[in-house]
Amino acid sequence: MKLFDYARTSRVSDAVGLVAGHPGGAFIGGGTELTNLMKDGVLAPDLVVDVGALALADIGVRKGQLLIGATARMGDVAEHPVVRERFPVISEALLASASPQVRNRATIGGNLMQRTRCWYYRDVGSACNKREPGSGCPAIGGQNRWHAIHGGSDHCIAVHPSDLAVSLTALDATVLTLGPDGRRSIPIGDFYRLPGSTPDQETALRHGELITAVEIPESGPAAGSRYLKLRDRATFEFAVVSVAAALIQAGGVVTDVRLAFGGIATRPWRSAGAEEALRGHPLTQATIAAAGRALVDGAQPREHNAFKVELVQRALADILEDFGGRK
Ligand code: SF4
Repeated sequence: MKLFDYARTSRVSDAVGLVAGHPGGAFIGGGTELTNLMKDGVLAPDLVVDVGALALADIGVRKGQLLIGATARMGDVAEHPVVRERFPVISEALLASASPQVRNRATIGGNLMQRTRCWYYRDVGSACNKREPGSGCPAIGGQNRWHAIHGGSDHCIAVHPSDLAVSLTALDATVLTLGPDGRRSIPIGDFYRLPGSTPDQETALRHGELITAVEIPESGPAAGSRYLKLRDRATFEFAVVSVAAALIQAGGVVTDVRLAFGGIATRPWRSAGAEEALRGHPLTQATIAAAGRALVDGAQPREHNAFKVELVQRALADILEDFGGRK
């Protein structure tokens, strides 16, 4: 690991100023992601600013919005009674993530900023456009079982790994930040970038800009929300495919629906087509099948991940069965 300087402050503006004034600076929260990447030589910040002493760990509802501070621990958020009862998809997504030990350490901001599990990205002996722009993407013609069927480009097809981000995408969350230019509120749909020709630029954050909280509207179908994650083993594993569903029915038809998917795309994937196939209709075998077809419309499977096209449709049908749908 390359030598680096370490700083810790209790003032948010000081933390932002330190990283903003240092081109090689980075924030560190629980350290469950950044330290691994530093040990493997994937990232090499020369200044690490610890955000653990910042007063950003509150969890609570105000003015119809659930506010989760960026340094709140994943485990604390998952077990919080308001989150469990009124935003269950968030609790379920967090409990399906990592291990209890990691959840007790890792922060919400760090979870949203975690990097792809693409093995080429994490192997510094491999080319990788995301780690080293212009070096190539060996996953496109190589081992791509874990990779994206939506949102890829000729430069990168890596899947975004965060379960939490998928649940927040289904609930139309907003990411609150403080940067050198002031505060910003970024809709989560604009927060994660498609890779295009610049897969190294993953989010809308500017250098020195810190996530301070996420805000989730309580109106809409948040209370009737679920998360389903399919993975190769039952714990401490990333999604092969996952579904976050938030849905309201009245008079036998779907009146409001939000569907987001993990494991299939280069960023948390909201499917407007699948939602449209359900909205205003009952949850029947025919409408669920139509939603599944809309979801995979335009998918670009690769040599080893074509199975995801069917698997994600089955996962969608499974979770809709929990809402009374018929497969
Ligand atoms: Fe790198 Fe993306 Fe290609 Fe993986 S898929 S090797 S992260 S460029």
